[in-house]
Amino acid sequence: MDNKRIIIAIDGHSSCGKSTFAKAIAARLGYIFIDTGAMYRAVTLYALENGAITMGIVDESRIEAMLKYIDIDIRFNPARGASDIYVNGDLVEGKIRTIEVSNLVSAVSSIGAVRQKLVAMQQEMGRKGGVVMDGRDIGTVVFPNAELKIYMTADPMVRAERRYKELTAKGDNVTLEEVYANVVSRDKADMSRAISPLRKADDAIVLDNSTMSVEEQMSWFDEQYRRVTAQ
Ligand code: C5P
Repeated sequence: MDNKRIIIAIDGHSSCGKSTFAKAIAARLGYIFIDTGAMYRAVTLYALENGAITMGIVDESRIEAMLKYIDIDIRFNPARGASDIYVNGDLVEGKIRTIEVSNLVSAVSSIGAVRQKLVAMQQEMGRKGGVVMDGRDIGTVVFPNAELKIYMTADPMVRAERRYKELTAKGDNVTLEEVYANVVSRDKADMSRAISPLRKADDAIVLDNSTMSVEEQMSWFDEQYRRVTAQ
């Protein structure tokens, strides 16, 4: 493996396996994996638990005001081969992927002050390279100079079915229709928001994994990685 420790930016639609893919790449290369969606989910959870979201209504100015009290910490957990996310010292990893948080996170992530805080943290974490970061704006805003940019997508029903399996396996009581509706509405919200909308960076390569296994995605990645690092 060569010594050039690059930045790999992975953006794309909700629930298309970005984190699984990013985590596998990071393990292969000995890079740090950062799931930026988890950071937006953690802020959403904090807002929910601290009265800034009531009856599904997101109070933007309250969230802005509480940002200074939200201390997000990402610590590598060797048992999972991935990082765990903590808010003010509490491990929240198990609480941020519920359908409730999923339904509110796009509204929270569209708040400028939230993005400003999290983007600055992400830039600091990836500064030295050797990082695989997944999200919506990594190749366009966080690291526009990333050496390798991947834009992931898959058929919305395929994505909903994958996410539905994950959630029900964990014991969550959701329906496929509910998950599908969430996938579609998050895509729409993330692509149409005013600040840093989800879009493919001009120099990103598209990976549509609707019919690809994880192994097929990895060999596709190996080829892209070789091409970039050989330059
Ligand atoms: O990746 P994940 O689906 O967990 O992300 C949750 C939400 O966080 C997204 O739907 C999006 O609204 C927001 N997000 C974002 N920018 C990122 C990562 C996630 O706006 N870089």
